[in-house]
Amino acid sequence: MIDTELLRDPCARTATPVLSFDSARSLAVQHGTPLLVTSRSRLVRNYWEMKQAMPGVDLYYAAKANPAPVILEALAAEKAFVDVCSAGEMVAALAAGFTPDRMLHTHPCKTEDNFRQCYDAGLRWFVYDSESEAEKIASWSTDVNLTSEVNLLLRLAITAQSSKINLSAKFGAPVEDVASLLEAASRRRLNVRGFSFHVGSQCVSPEDYCIAIAKVREVWDLATRMGFVLSVLDIGGGFPAPYRDDVPSTDSFCGVIWRGLQEHFGRMNVRFLAEPGRGLCAESTTLVTKVIGKSKRWGMPWYFIDDGIYNSFSGIMFDHGDFPILFESSGDRPVAAGVIAGPTCDSGDVVCRDQEMPDLEVGELLMVPCMGAYAGASACPFNGLPVAKSVLIA
Ligand SMILES: *Cc1c(COP(=O)(O)O)cnc(C)c1O
Repeated sequence: MIDTELLRDPCARTATPVLSFDSARSLAVQHGTPLLVTSRSRLVRNYWEMKQAMPGVDLYYAAKANPAPVILEALAAEKAFVDVCSAGEMVAALAAGFTPDRMLHTHPCKTEDNFRQCYDAGLRWFVYDSESEAEKIASWSTDVNLTSEVNLLLRLAITAQSSKINLSAKFGAPVEDVASLLEAASRRRLNVRGFSFHVGSQCVSPEDYCIAIAKVREVWDLATRMGFVLSVLDIGGGFPAPYRDDVPSTDSFCGVIWRGLQEHFGRMNVRFLAEPGRGLCAESTTLVTKVIGKSKRWGMPWYFIDDGIYNSFSGIMFDHGDFPILFESSGDRPVAAGVIAGPTCDSGDVVCRDQEMPDLEVGELLMVPCMGAYAGASACPFNGLPVAKSVLIA
């Protein structure tokens, strides 16, 4: 028999749970289900793997992906930086131990409240992508000396072909507008320090970053010719996590990006930033959910579980999630096609239609790895069903 493990790409990252079914059972007895189990060591390992693969790049964890205190606290303790988009995320980051000088506010369309609360707390790095946003920021931050302490990054719209979620459809300026947007900021005495972009979330080809970096080098040179002195290049988020499909290892993926940075900006005095969300936190968390019922519909087995698309599986709706579902001792039980559905009364609340599964028993536990990003963060208590609890393990 061929060992399928050997056929796997040795550089690939595969979705793996952070606990065994035995541990899941004892945690389920203690805390109930559905339960999101976060491994601090897995999170910290992911952070250091990415840092080591891109030496000199400051990692601003994108709090949007998972603002849970356990995640923010663990990253603050490692001296990470943080990317926030709202006063709420800033407050959560402050509570977790991040200081305002280690924060970047990346929302390109801020309300006055959002801006002022962050500015008043001491945050000084913001993002803009339109003349209107520059106008707003100048009116809120410029004091009697007519200068602003605000540092701005101009976000560019650069989308990669390989990304699952396009984040330039809504935000980011077209590169053709760079000159006029730089002038719009400098006319208002705002300090533009550099550029940012986001290749899109769950990007699976690191070459896409290199294409974006090369494009930024062109507008960087244009800005220099216009007299701007820039110092910061922010390559955004997008770093992938393994779901049902493997992804390249952090080392190989980030290595390509790092070489791209050296190629296009290596001999310049530039500070590099990245805003990884999913790539840091997705693998840190495994969902433990319980089978609460079963039936047969037109010959097909249906299993009902206590978590669904309104809860941790909300990533299916909002994040194109394709989560692998793990069954206990699946190697020893015959498998067949089946449907797994969530606990709400919504008939659209189905989490899996195309995986083979054993004949599941009511009461048995299932595990779903890679539930740390865009899962619990977008869950809601629809139908009076509470969102999953969270626990932290070593
Ligand atoms: C969502 C977002 C991120 C994080 O993206 P990931 O794909 O999770 O790494 C980073 N920066 C900005 C501006 C974002 O909107």
